[in-house]
Amino acid sequence: MKILVVEDEPKTGDYLRQGLIEAGFGVDLARDGIDGLHLGETGDYDLAILDVMLPGLDGWQVLAGMRRTGREMPVLFLTARDQVEDRVKGLELGADDYLVKPFAFAELLARVRTLLRRGSRNKEAEQMRVADLELDLLRRRVTRGGQRIDLTAKEFALLELLLRRRGEVLPRSLIASQIWDMNFDSDTNVIEVAVRRLRAKMDDGFEPKLIRTVRGMGYVLEDDAG
Ligand code: CA
Repeated sequence: MKILVVEDEPKTGDYLRQGLIEAGFGVDLARDGIDGLHLGETGDYDLAILDVMLPGLDGWQVLAGMRRTGREMPVLFLTARDQVEDRVKGLELGADDYLVKPFAFAELLARVRTLLRRGSRNKEAEQMRVADLELDLLRRRVTRGGQRIDLTAKEFALLELLLRRRGEVLPRSLIASQIWDMNFDSDTNVIEVAVRRLRAKMDDGFEPKLIRTVRGMGYVLEDDAG
C-alpha cells in the first residue's frame, strides 16, 4: 500500500517516511504543496498525509486539487494545536481525519490503519491470496496454510510487489527501485539475499513453490511455479 506524505519540515518528513516504510508501506514524500499536488494527481496512492502550512500551495489547496481530479483516497491532515477552525474547514473540504502536532508515531499509525480500513471498499483490497498463501495488508500479516509467517517489513513489501504483479517476471532492477529505493548497480546481492530469505520462510516446507527464478531476468510469483 502506498502513502503520499506532504510535509515541508525536513525532520518531520523524514521521520514520517522512515516510520511508515518500517511499518511496511510504500512512501512518496513531497516537501512543498506544488510537488505534493503533482504527485497526488498523477500517482496512485491509498492514502495521503498532508501538512496544512506548506510552501507553494497549502494543505487545503492540495486536497481540493486532488479531489477535483477525482482522487478519493483518504486524507489525514497534520495541524498545529491552535488551528481548530482549520480542522473544521479541512473536514468540510473532504479531509477524513486530522492529527495535532506534535504526535506520537504510534497514534499516526493507528489513524492510518483505520483510514485505510475504511477506505478500502471491499475485503479484496485488504487481503491478497495465492494458493494457500494469504497477505493481510492492513495488519501486515502473512499466513500460509493457516500458519503464521513472520516477515520483515522489506520481505513483506517484496512479497506484496510480487503478488500484485503475479505472473509477471520482475527484473531485479525494478525490485531494487521499488523496495529498496536504490539503483540496481549499487548492490545486486541485496535482492538475491532477500528473495532467498523470503522463500525460505514461505516456500520451504510448502507446496506448490510460489516464487520462481527466471535466469538472467528476475523473479516471478506464480500459482503453478514448479
Ligand atoms: Ca509546515
